[in-house]
Amino acid sequence: MEKIEQFLQWIKDTDNIVFFGGAGVSTESGIPDFRSVDGLYHQEYDYPPETILSHSFYISRPSEFYRFYRKKMLCLTAKPNAAHKKLAELEKAGKLKAVITQNIDGLHQAAGSKKVFELHGSVHRNYCMSCGKFFDVGYILNSKDSPLCDSCGEMVKPDVVLYEEGLNDETIQSSISHIAQADMLIIGGTSLAVYPAAGLVDYYRGNKLVLINNSTTPLDKRANLRIEGKIGEVLSRIQL
Ligand code: NAD
Repeated sequence: MEKIEQFLQWIKDTDNIVFFGGAGVSTESGIPDFRSVDGLYHQEYDYPPETILSHSFYISRPSEFYRFYRKKMLCLTAKPNAAHKKLAELEKAGKLKAVITQNIDGLHQAAGSKKVFELHGSVHRNYCMSCGKFFDVGYILNSKDSPLCDSCGEMVKPDVVLYEEGLNDETIQSSISHIAQADMLIIGGTSLAVYPAAGLVDYYRGNKLVLINNSTTPLDKRANLRIEGKIGEVLSRIQL
């Protein structure tokens, strides 16, 4: 049986699917990932993106952090692509139990997915670091320099997990529990290079691990099925 046929058959047979994805899920929406050839890690900046997107950099040079963040991480005109839409359809059809994403762009929810675990947070939520007041993404976009709380004057930080910061415990526990109980795990559009997120895959116990990526990953050998290609195109083959 061809790989894609096997994949489609497993989707038909299973109603307990979990999807785990990364930046590659949103490249077809025009948002650059980090590690592809035209990703952010291959563009020239004064500092490497890992440095700019770290907690210590954010605290010590907030203006520079926000210059990069506004320009490269806020892609607010991007629309959900075929991958986001198909995953939302699968959930609606009762087949997909959760999307676990490393993305911070909110496109799964924009496509209609309800159960989304955002391991690295979201650009759409922002909080005052002192009084906790909530700010939407428009506040970040429209403020100059480093945004300050309009109530107490302290710094406003995106609810995004920066390098050196820990992941939300509840989000990790819920993600682990969904992966551990899944019959089928589809992993797509991630280099599986960022930990602890990539380590969550270890909790999968089943024998329908499908890896969809347009390049190789360190976990290719673990996959029961590896499909090389664009995630939007591959998922579009699913007929419900
Ligand atoms: P990554 O950049 O490390 O890897 C992306 C992977 O997806 C690569 O292996 C690439 O070959 C593959 N890929 C790219 N486009 C694809 C497509 N259309 N179809 C199939 N595969 C495709 O991304 P990562 O593993 O998610 O880790 C990087 C970190 O970057 C994450 O923590 C994430 O929070 C953050 N990030 C998020 C966004 C976003 O929210 N859209 C964008 C850039 C980076």
